[in-house]
Amino acid sequence: MTTTPSLVDAGAFDLHGDKLREECGVFGIIGAADASAACALGLHALQHRGQEAVGISSFDGAEFITRRGLGHVADNFSSAESLAELKGHMAVGHVRYSTTGGSGLRNVQPLYADLASGGFAVAHNGNISNAMQLKQELVSKGAIFQSTSDTEVIIHLVATSRYPTMLDKLTDALRMVEGAYALTVMTPRGMAACRDPMGIRPLVMGKLGDAVVFASETVALDVVGAEFIRQVDPGELIEVDFDGTIRSHRPFGETKARPCIFEHVYFSRPDSIFNQRSVYESRKNIGAELARESPCEADLVVPVPDSGVPAAIGYAQESGIPFELGIIRSHYVGRTFIQPSDSARHAGVKRKHNANRLLVEGKRIVLIDDSIVRGTTSLKIVQMMRDAGAAEVHFRVASPPTGHGCYYGVDTPERSKLLAGRMDISAMQEFIQADSLAFVSIDGLYRAVGLASRDNSCPQYCDACFTGEYPTPLTDLAGRKEKEAQLSLPVNKVA
Ligand code: SF4
Repeated sequence: MTTTPSLVDAGAFDLHGDKLREECGVFGIIGAADASAACALGLHALQHRGQEAVGISSFDGAEFITRRGLGHVADNFSSAESLAELKGHMAVGHVRYSTTGGSGLRNVQPLYADLASGGFAVAHNGNISNAMQLKQELVSKGAIFQSTSDTEVIIHLVATSRYPTMLDKLTDALRMVEGAYALTVMTPRGMAACRDPMGIRPLVMGKLGDAVVFASETVALDVVGAEFIRQVDPGELIEVDFDGTIRSHRPFGETKARPCIFEHVYFSRPDSIFNQRSVYESRKNIGAELARESPCEADLVVPVPDSGVPAAIGYAQESGIPFELGIIRSHYVGRTFIQPSDSARHAGVKRKHNANRLLVEGKRIVLIDDSIVRGTTSLKIVQMMRDAGAAEVHFRVASPPTGHGCYYGVDTPERSKLLAGRMDISAMQEFIQADSLAFVSIDGLYRAVGLASRDNSCPQYCDACFTGEYPTPLTDLAGRKEKEAQLSLPVNKVA
């Protein structure tokens, strides 16, 4: 094993700079007297899905009102005054971490448009993988775009649809888009919520008294006091009228579900239920699988906080090695890390985490993290344990190697910057300077979420960032590769 110069000069730093980032969370409620307040509360519970910007639109029976801002929910919607103008019994909201479209205020959702058929407000989680192609077609016909968000494509497709009803217009629009979406939509006639045909991005439905609630995760239902009814099924479009009537439509017929398996690994909060399973249990199971597949002679199992904690509990329980908090997180450091620019992302380094020196000194440590993305943070963590006197540092990862980008609404570095995109496991181990490195297998991950193994002929989840097998066409990417091949330029950036 070679050594490289230390990247850390002190024992305390932030571990969150090297994660995949869920791009958005959505919320919608209809039939509640204080719809916008419930919406703000629900978005607060979804804050982990996007910290860059937030917005709420409400409808008071006559007018749509939208307020959007940069920053956290609490920065924008913490006071009665901030919600006072968002009147009405129906509201949709959105928290955002930008990838496609950039980070300006004009891309902050919900997006709103006055259509010939009336107002239309939409909050979207996901990424439309043929948005560029559709946008070019729309622009060539005279469409004028206000934002660079792929979500605006949906609005234009609805606006230009020749079908008579809003439901048909929305269905018509969605049949033209590829990729991943979970949408909450408001029109003067009520609310619609839908998921792409494979249900790549999550969306659930609940009841709060007479009100109907939609959210990216069940934790948002819990926080507003709503009862979880069921998930919105892949390819399902649900309409809710102001009188509470709920209608379910299947505009794509029978579809094969491929929800994002990374929701189990990292994106969803552990207290959420995703795809009929407790996320916390899934993460513990992954840790247990990891312990069976890649055992280790060690004194302590140490989670990388906070996302590695459930898997570390599972690893410790299965292996019999004591679980200990060898890295302590400060809860009082400003949120400097979740920003879309590299400089902002790195600004919070060295402020948030610290080795529990007296615990780890002289011990053989098994570190458990949910994933390795670029690998730079993993190297820092290993060094932090060594600097604190650990005798050995073994690294176990609660997901398979992340070697491919995501085109479904998750911020991933280009493949050349993913550690697993350019190195095998032994080279990765050398890079992060661990005494050993192992990842849970793809079959182990599927076992952890309750399946016998990955069905290679018909996988049950989207797992493309591990396998490179994308469940939908990637039209924009293919078009860009073709254009770049014609120009003999290297492919180095994707939407
Ligand atoms: S590529 Fe990975 S992160 Fe993206 S939707 Fe699929 S499993 Fe989730």
